[in-house]
Amino acid sequence: MKDDTRRRALAFEAAIGTDEVVLPGPSEAGMKPNAAAPAAKASDLAAFAREICACQKCPLGATRNRFVFGVGNPHADVMFIGEAPGADEDKLGEPFVGRAGKLLDKILEAIQFDRSQVYIANILKCRPPSNRDPDPDEMNLCFPYLERQIAMIAPRFICCLGRIAAQRILETKTPLGKMRHQWFDRFGARVMVTYHPAALLRFAEYKRETWEDVQRLREAYDDWKKGTS
Ligand code: URA
Repeated sequence: MKDDTRRRALAFEAAIGTDEVVLPGPSEAGMKPNAAAPAAKASDLAAFAREICACQKCPLGATRNRFVFGVGNPHADVMFIGEAPGADEDKLGEPFVGRAGKLLDKILEAIQFDRSQVYIANILKCRPPSNRDPDPDEMNLCFPYLERQIAMIAPRFICCLGRIAAQRILETKTPLGKMRHQWFDRFGARVMVTYHPAALLRFAEYKRETWEDVQRLREAYDDWKKGTS
């Protein structure tokens, strides 16, 4: 196994404190970054962001500091979807930049992705006060924005981070634990579910399972990539 691959896998262990990490095999080594996205697509997404960034469709428009559209490669094959911006995201206008975001970066690194290759967004574009759960009306009003974003990016894989994202994307009330270990088809993508990084900061027992989930994502991505090359 290449040193670099080993180093990346161990970064996951260091980040989330998993004792035993199954290191990725040779098929997961040497992943190439996506080619640069054509300017037209990036500019379409940017135009869409400009179109909706002053949204006042729900009360969160009045309390937000920054509209958090999403970040990453407009041509990403893999998209990660969280719940809603927190205080740090509301301040900076970018998803997953706080403690949970730093952990997400480590998780990405451990499966040989980084922010420039994937796309990261949330169910809500604006922060719910005091980080309360998004309410159903807020999600219903905001969700069409995410649907349009997904349609523009056309990812092959979507990883739902946490229960709120998974239940909204999959339109179900099924508990998160029951949705793990499965693939779903939505928006022309293969959709999977894992724990929210913030949950890992609170519940150490989810770390191992998250590692298994993201390895499964990486393996499916590698298999798909092999089939397309
Ligand atoms: N939690 C989320 O679900 N999204 C963010 O952007 C940050 C924290």
